Amino acid sequence: MNHALTIDVEDYFQVAAFNKNIERSNWSSLESRVEANTEKFLQLTEKKGIKATFFTLGWVAERCPNLVRKVADAGHEVASHGYSHKLVYSQSHEEFRQETESSKKLLEDLSQQPVNGYRAASYSITEKSLWALDVIQETGFEYDSSIYPVRHDRYGLRGGPHTPYSIALPNGGTLAEFPITTVDLFGYKLPVGGGGYFRLFPFSFTKYCLKRRLSQLPAPFVFYLHPWELDPEQPRIEGVSWLSRFRHYNNLAKVESRLDALLDLYSFGTMQSVLDEMNELPVHSYT
Ligand SMILES: [Zn+2]
Repeated sequence: MNHALTIDVEDYFQVAAFNKNIERSNWSSLESRVEANTEKFLQLTEKKGIKATFFTLGWVAERCPNLVRKVADAGHEVASHGYSHKLVYSQSHEEFRQETESSKKLLEDLSQQPVNGYRAASYSITEKSLWALDVIQETGFEYDSSIYPVRHDRYGLRGGPHTPYSIALPNGGTLAEFPITTVDLFGYKLPVGGGGYFRLFPFSFTKYCLKRRLSQLPAPFVFYLHPWELDPEQPRIEGVSWLSRFRHYNNLAKVESRLDALLDLYSFGTMQSVLDEMNELPVHSYT
């Protein structure tokens, strides 16, 4: 059984936690490190013979078109991480529809492949933004991977399944959903999908949790990281709260070796290929 390996292609200054510290209009003036950091993923996946899904931000694709072509040429799946990295629930319906459509087209033009998968900035499909699932489906996406079924201050939507399922939408359509990985620890749903949790928890604990999760729910899981998580040398952002500083910079130097080891422990593939291998998905509705 393959699991989904996913990379959210964005730069270190675009994370939602830094919204208050960095003006969006200043992004272009900051040192870009996303190309070099994504290259590290390309090299590691090539070494391991693994194909992954690269959820790419439209803002980055516009400025690094060769990166998108390189990802596609290497046989990986190019998917969408939206355009602006604005949280979905902070956008108007129309703004969201426009950027979802335009970034899909941009990525398709650059990669010369259909872009079927969508992941919202900071997993911001929550109870406040369930309307966005209709827009994602109407824009032509076949699957979404934006729902983190846990409790968190910025994201989280509980009540749905913890393994891939099909969402029955209010518009009458359906959208496959690959929820981010959790494990049930004594009744508490702990996030173990990657990112900050992969850096925060000791690696032995992550391994224990994934093994436990597979014994509880023997279905594919998704693992995610960001290019900046392979970059311990990245410039530090000034004036950030201690919590955001901890979440962003904690254990960056340990990620590369942990990822290398994780890729040997399980079989991974693109999210599209993992979904294609699954038989009929259970149906869930949020309405
Ligand atoms: Zn992101």
